[in-house]
Parts: sequence; structure tokens; C-alpha cells
Amino acid sequence: MESCIFCRIIKREAPGKVVYEDESVVAVEDIHPQAPVHLLLIPRKHLPALADATPEDEALLGHLLKVAAQLARERGLESRGYRTVINNGAWAGQSVLHLHVHLLGGRVFHWPPG
Ligand code: AMP
Ligand code: ZN
Repeated sequence: MESCIFCRIIKREAPGKVVYEDESVVAVEDIHPQAPVHLLLIPRKHLPALADATPEDEALLGHLLKVAAQLARERGLESRGYRTVINNGAWAGQSVLHLHVHLLGGRVFHWPPG
């Protein structure tokens, strides 16, 4: 996906602060952080949204969450808690059409979300 900003960050064609990467996932700092820690876990595979995931993506989805938990632990967020978010579609406010998991921490989050 040549025009996708997250694909371009993954390929190092666009700037991005990469904090973790492995064979299937790249994590970057969000450019507009909503919390002291705000990372985006991005699969290297371009899936527009969670709704586009197929059975063959099950392991990838699990891996995204496992990496989120690992990065949260490494950043000392585990004891107080943190939030993971996947926005899917317009009403959820998804603005980048490449599936990603937000990892937010370092402050209190309220429920229900806005
Ligand atoms: P969403 O609204 O769930 O699609 O989240 C998209 C997120 O990507 C937002 O939190 C943006 O701040 C973030 N974002 C957009 N462009 C960039 C970029 N070039 N580098 C890092 N984060 C970005
Ligand atoms: Zn993409």
C-alpha cells in the first residue's frame, strides 16, 4: 500500500519513532500522544481494519496483544494498569486505515470512553 502512512513508516519511507519490531509487528510512538505512554502496535501486513482480519490472521492478532502486554511490562505500566484500544471504522474514530492497537498508559483512564 504505497499511500498508507503506516506501511510507509514500516518501510522507513516516512519518519516514525520505532520502539520495537519483530517479524510481524512494528511498534511506534504515536505522533499525537494521548497519555504519557502512547504506542501503536502495527502489523507489517496491511489489513485496513480489524473487520478485515480472516482466520489466517488469528495468530497475528494474538501476537499484537502479546507484544502490547510485553511493552507495557517493560515500561512499568503493569502494576497500575494500562489500556489497549482498537478503533474499527468511522463511528469508533478510526483515522488510519491500517489495523493497529493503541497502548496507552501512565495516567488514569475513564469508562465508558468518549
Ligand atoms: P486511529 O484513530 O485509531 O486510526 O489512530 C490513528 C493514530 O495514528 C492516531 O492516534 C494518530 O495520532 C496516529 N498517527 C497518525 N499519523 C501518524 C504518524 N505519522 N506517526 C505516528 N502516529 C501517527
Ligand atoms: Zn498499510
